[in-house]
Amino acid sequence: MELVSRSQLDDVERELQQWAHGFAAEVIRPSAAANDQQRRQPLDVLQSAFDAGLLTLGIPAEYGGGGAGSAVAQALVAEELCWGCIGVYSYLSGTNMFIAALLECGNDDQRRRWLSPLCIDGPHMAAFACTEPGGGSDVSGIRTRARKVDGGFVLNGQKIFITNAGLAHSVLIVADAMDGDERLGLTMFAARGDSPGLSYGLRARTMGWRASTNAEIFIDDLFVVDDDVIGEVGTGFAGAVRTFELSRIEVAACSIGVARAALEYARDYANERQAFGRPIARFQGVSFPLADAVTRLHASRLLTWDAARAADRGEPFGTKASMAKLFASETAVATTSQAMQVLGGHGYVEDHPVEKWFRDARLETIEEGTSEIQRVIIGRALLDSTTPLF
Ligand SMILES: Cc1cc2nc3c(=O)[nH]c(=O)nc-3n(C[C@H](O)[C@H](O)[C@H](O)COP(=O)(O)OP(=O)(O)OC[C@H]3O[C@@H](n4cnc5c(N)ncnc54)[C@H](O)[C@@H]3O)c2cc1C
Repeated sequence: MELVSRSQLDDVERELQQWAHGFAAEVIRPSAAANDQQRRQPLDVLQSAFDAGLLTLGIPAEYGGGGAGSAVAQALVAEELCWGCIGVYSYLSGTNMFIAALLECGNDDQRRRWLSPLCIDGPHMAAFACTEPGGGSDVSGIRTRARKVDGGFVLNGQKIFITNAGLAHSVLIVADAMDGDERLGLTMFAARGDSPGLSYGLRARTMGWRASTNAEIFIDDLFVVDDDVIGEVGTGFAGAVRTFELSRIEVAACSIGVARAALEYARDYANERQAFGRPIARFQGVSFPLADAVTRLHASRLLTWDAARAADRGEPFGTKASMAKLFASETAVATTSQAMQVLGGHGYVEDHPVEKWFRDARLETIEEGTSEIQRVIIGRALLDSTTPLF
């Protein structure tokens, strides 16, 4: 059975999908359980991903990357690698939001200075630091301050849960810029991860995503030169929103990847496992929820690829990205939970990968804008419209 006809993809896209699947099957999956149990970031996988060009795939060729930066390409790769392990994917791809922000808002000089180093002498990673202890959903409430001084800004504040914090070669920080008492607005700043003024907390003890590093960043008198303000001063909110819109398509694709892994496993188990003299797959109590799950997965892919195609055509895609993220992430939580149910007690223990997929999927409705925030965005788009809903 094939989810969403692959005929919707052109030859290059199909080849990319297959290549990413091969990498996930051969390089990521074999150590996924051990990485999770030991909370280990697999350096060998990171190196292989760098060598294969996966870490910098989305960076244009002129800056040294793979030049496959379309939203569709990103979604195809994300889904396959997350089928392999979403925790490892997070470790490998924490850089993607940094790349997206530079491509969306940076100028040519900034892209050259900040993106090219990620492509050579790697593997290097980057981080995108927006969320603060005081709140992540309310981006406008950011408290990290950037005070204007001669030649640049001095930043002070704190970030939390930042993927790759402490490992990243470069960090993009969203802060509220001030000139004296005048508020200039949210602004994005690029800094090297080892800059004086940046220090890092302990890794968060996360429920899932255990191959990933998520930690606090403490920002104490970090000086950033004017040239490293990404986009115009005061445009950081719009820049962050554009970056989130793109990354929500990626999160949707990741959600499909982990849900697909769990559904395949549950299907095979249901065909094997016997109860009352027959495979449990023969009971509609088992097969109907799986039928629902594959239908939701199919719909998730349609929503995700549609949002990605809209982004690649240069059309407005923010609402579509929110719909894809909302639906696919909730599908991932429901599907991994259902897969656990199909395995009964065996689904709850570490002998099978289903409990890991369940823990991993749970974050998807929270990160990069919770389900509630997606509903705020989608509801606003609907209620602000007055034209027929063609
Ligand atoms: C493993 C992990 C990795 C992460 N990686 C990064 C990263 O790399 N960079 C980064 O910047 N952040 C990162 N985050 C942070 C993540 O994006 C935030 O946790 C998320 O946006 C939610 O913010 P919050 O945790 O502060 O929740 P809050 O904003 O405090 O929300 C709490 C609850 O209130 C609800 N709520 C808030 N406002 C509304 C509203 N208007 N209407 C309805 N409900 C509302 C929320 O939906 C949620 O249920 C990561 C988080 C985790 C756990």
